[in-house]
Amino acid sequence: MRPILWSLVALPWVLTATSCGGEGSGGGGSNAGGTGNLGAVGGGGAGGSGGAVAGSGGLAGGGGAAGSGGAAGGGGTGGSTGGSGGSGGSTGGTGGTGGITSPPATLTKGAPDRFLLKGAVITPTGAIAGEVLVESKNITCVAASCSGQPGATGATVIETHGVIVPGLIDPHNHGLFNLFDETDWTPQKLYTNHNHWTDPVKEPRYTQTVDAKQALESASGPNVACEMNKFAETKALIAGTTSFLVAAGERKCFASLVRTIDTAYNDLETPNIDPVRTAIAVPSGSDATTVCNAVKAGDTFVVHVAEGTDGPALNEFTSLANAASGCLINSRVTLVHGTALQPTQFQTMATADMGLVWSPKSNVFLYGSTTDIPAAMAAGVKKIALGPDWALGGSVNMLDELRFADGYDDSKWGNKLTPKKIVEMGSIEGARVLGVEKYVGSLEVGKRADLFVVPGNVSNAYDAVLAATPSTVRVTMVDGRVLYGDKALEAAGPATPGCEALPLCGVDKFLCAAEATTADKLNQTYAEYRAALVSALKSYDDTVKPAGGPFSPITSLTKCP
Ligand SMILES: [Zn+2]
Repeated sequence: MRPILWSLVALPWVLTATSCGGEGSGGGGSNAGGTGNLGAVGGGGAGGSGGAVAGSGGLAGGGGAAGSGGAAGGGGTGGSTGGSGGSGGSTGGTGGTGGITSPPATLTKGAPDRFLLKGAVITPTGAIAGEVLVESKNITCVAASCSGQPGATGATVIETHGVIVPGLIDPHNHGLFNLFDETDWTPQKLYTNHNHWTDPVKEPRYTQTVDAKQALESASGPNVACEMNKFAETKALIAGTTSFLVAAGERKCFASLVRTIDTAYNDLETPNIDPVRTAIAVPSGSDATTVCNAVKAGDTFVVHVAEGTDGPALNEFTSLANAASGCLINSRVTLVHGTALQPTQFQTMATADMGLVWSPKSNVFLYGSTTDIPAAMAAGVKKIALGPDWALGGSVNMLDELRFADGYDDSKWGNKLTPKKIVEMGSIEGARVLGVEKYVGSLEVGKRADLFVVPGNVSNAYDAVLAATPSTVRVTMVDGRVLYGDKALEAAGPATPGCEALPLCGVDKFLCAAEATTADKLNQTYAEYRAALVSALKSYDDTVKPAGGPFSPITSLTKCP
């Protein structure tokens, strides 16, 4: 989607507001089918409870990749959102033969800034039984054994009994919307173009939602943009996401939790760098020239193109190709959505080695279909990443989005995407489409220590990622800091100012949101920034009295299986 006022970063020009929307009745069936697919994956990949929920919405259940053994399933998410789907439910239910489990992780406390993680490790060439050594912010060893490394001596040891996964890279998320969900607005029908559903006449409730969001973030209002972004980052972090785009402007409060990769607060370099530019529409004229010059200088340009299914959506690619004398048909340009693109355009993209960001759940929510990924791959497009777009109709987090992609692939395309490929779309490919693969996206010596751990073992490592949910994620580490995980591992978190308890779907977790400094609201705990949002939204509801009803309460951090 393309919410109004998606901020441009590092660009001197401001684009006319556009949006991404959908409308009224009739969309229910298609939406239900699409989310049903997700439900089906949940059933197969994530266990009995997931399967049962999936059954209510699915049309292609039973195909889960990871259905051996285990209890709690994460797959129910899709089923619950797709609840109106109906047919295929019983098939979906058959997927619920079990999730992926493994013995709990254990902690042996040592040095606070060195960690030796043991378990199955997803490396660039596949999963191995081994170890990852983290020293300060960096990965210094990935091998069958790192015990011979000097830094391993006296390190804090986490015996994960699970799978150590590269932190997920989310290259497309309008996070300030993520305190809302489909209960706040669902299009009344499916649309064919992103310019349609944002029409206030067609979708008045969407306009009300945007109004509420903008009121909350306004500096002249409650001014809780920092809290909104931290809430979105928290939703991402607990699902193994360690880098996040797009930020709404440059704010120092973005320096906490996951990396806000398209700002100078991404912590990638000292002094700071911001190599990613973003836009919600194809630039033209002098704006395009400005972007062209930045791209030539080495920046990555991430731009929404061809969101929708109609001719005008497709024509946006032509506009891009014509902008700045063709300069933006470039390996450092990444297209977000590309839903309307055909093999001809994919061929052009492949020849130029351009990137593509795929947001299937949001696409299905708004348009009833999604980008033709098999066609893009057949044409030779190599950099294809996954991103949820937003939590309002898109996936709540990257794990849900990976699962949705897997289900869509299974039911619509005959399983062209392996679990390994989908996990890579959520990690290294995300780094590549943003041009930051030098720093993040894989577990390799020299890269930053961004990773997470899920239950599983070396034989089911990729399926284990597709089966995981926030409540089963054992640890998430960003920049060498353990910020989220199982209660038993809390001592691995930063000692100052400490972490807080976070009960999640009946599981005791911890979250280390607060930082020591009081500057820029960085000392806020999760409880504090959530409370600020609850209060601001309630006040907005009471004051404005939105025609479509109040927006409170804010969404939960995750949809429990
Ligand atoms: Zn978008």
